[in-house]
Amino acid sequence: MSHTTDVAIVGAGMFGSAAARHLTDAGVDVTVIGPSGPDDASTRPEHAFGAHHDEARIVRRLGWDAVWGSLDARSQERFASIEERSGLPFFEDCGSLVLMARSISHRTEKILAQCAADGIAVERLDEDDLARRFPALGAVPIAGGVEGLYENRGAGYLNPRLLVRAQLALAAGGGARHVRAAVTDVRPAGSGGWVLDVRGDGVDETVNAQRLLVATGAFTNVAGVLPGGRRLALHAFTEPNLLYELGEEQLGALRTLPTVVTVDPEDVGEANLSLYLLPPVRYPDGRWYMRIGPGMQPVVDELTRLGDMVEWYAAQTLTPRQEIFLSEMMQMLVPDLKPPSVRSACCIIEKTPSRYPYIGHVDDETLTVAVGGNGHGARGSDEIGRLAATVVLGQPWDGAVPADTFRPRIASDQMGGDPKCSRRSAVPARSRCSTVSTTGSTHNWARRTPMGRSSRAASGRSSRSAAR
Ligand SMILES: Cc1cc2nc3c(=O)[nH]c(=O)nc-3n(C[C@H](O)[C@H](O)[C@H](O)COP(=O)(O)OP(=O)(O)OC[C@H]3O[C@@H](n4cnc5c(N)ncnc54)[C@H](O)[C@@H]3O)c2cc1C
Repeated sequence: MSHTTDVAIVGAGMFGSAAARHLTDAGVDVTVIGPSGPDDASTRPEHAFGAHHDEARIVRRLGWDAVWGSLDARSQERFASIEERSGLPFFEDCGSLVLMARSISHRTEKILAQCAADGIAVERLDEDDLARRFPALGAVPIAGGVEGLYENRGAGYLNPRLLVRAQLALAAGGGARHVRAAVTDVRPAGSGGWVLDVRGDGVDETVNAQRLLVATGAFTNVAGVLPGGRRLALHAFTEPNLLYELGEEQLGALRTLPTVVTVDPEDVGEANLSLYLLPPVRYPDGRWYMRIGPGMQPVVDELTRLGDMVEWYAAQTLTPRQEIFLSEMMQMLVPDLKPPSVRSACCIIEKTPSRYPYIGHVDDETLTVAVGGNGHGARGSDEIGRLAATVVLGQPWDGAVPADTFRPRIASDQMGGDPKCSRRSAVPARSRCSTVSTTGSTHNWARRTPMGRSSRAASGRSSRSAAR
């Protein structure tokens, strides 16, 4: 079977679904191709995993990076209308608490000044305030102490599965076609545009598209979705989490917690206390869980092969080192927690050398990518999808920061161009292929001493961003 469309979007995740909605809102004929999730029997597992198959992603207005701040703010402005139009409430306004090391009060001052300029209400709390306001939280033993930046409105978490469902429902309402299957090959069409092979349970079709948007997240370099074997400067890492089940007796006391992020400035290994913690969230099994994840410690591994990525997702088993690290951290953050059960949650995040997403053309103005959430793309996903839609349509860039900030970069070993895929190149080769630093590949597995603040060993590793 063969199908023709103006724009084919590969990947029905957070960025692909947002782009699909914006394109259909603009009246464009769109086909979005991607499985619904790991439980979707319609396709093979190597295409079904993604970073959004969970119940909560932290949303904050307060931020310390102007680029991400602009993506996040513009997305969040539209949450209410997406909820209203789709009838799917995905945002939980439970508040956000960022625990900053006092030793970086200059950064805290800067963040507060930016918040004041942006009209974001933030309370600054000292350790006594924190103990009084959040008695369930343990002290975070960062040298010099911590202070809290608390946003109690317009911050909390979003349900990424529901947001994707909302975006896809609105896109479908606008006429988009969603094929729940995987793209197994992409090649240039003789007459211009692209030919995609789409395979899944009961699906075996060819899609002919004038323009192509690739939004396949961490799988982009290994899923065979970039034509001619192209690869981006994009690094995938394991993202280990622990989920703590809450019994009825503890739920009441913990349910009013905000999301919590700790910011420890010392990027020196597993004694670093940068973490993220979700308040109690109800999961599809009907139980309530709190979820904890790492900040910038070297308990993560880079994944470069499709088989390893699928295995990490499929096994849902942390390494002993990750499990010990996260359980110690949870004991520190919520010392009185007595969970009936604790389970692993294995996900993957992808990082770009710039730390910003790629939103732009690769080789050809009919091929656009929107990838590189860098571990915090959920809250800005709607703006990332919108910007990708404008690039696909060749409309003038109207982002808050210059388009060049998001220019896709080709993997360093492919620099100089691959003749197989640089047909009709709209950009000179030199500017297409910029140098990449191999962030993330320089692990220094410093030995961890539990809570051993004095045992910090300089690792020189800085591949992880400071906080969620
Ligand atoms: C544990 C964890 C915690 C996080 N916490 C936060 C947070 O607190 N706040 C925040 O803002 N962000 C957070 N993030 C990041 C956020 O979830 C991601 O940045 C976001 O999901 C990226 O969206 P995406 O569309 O690029 O990728 P995804 O959401 O992963 O979507 C990619 C899609 O491509 C599909 N695909 C792959 N191959 C093919 C193929 N061949 N054919 C068709 N489809 C294909 C996959 O099935 C998938 O659905 C977190 C991520 C993780 C893993």
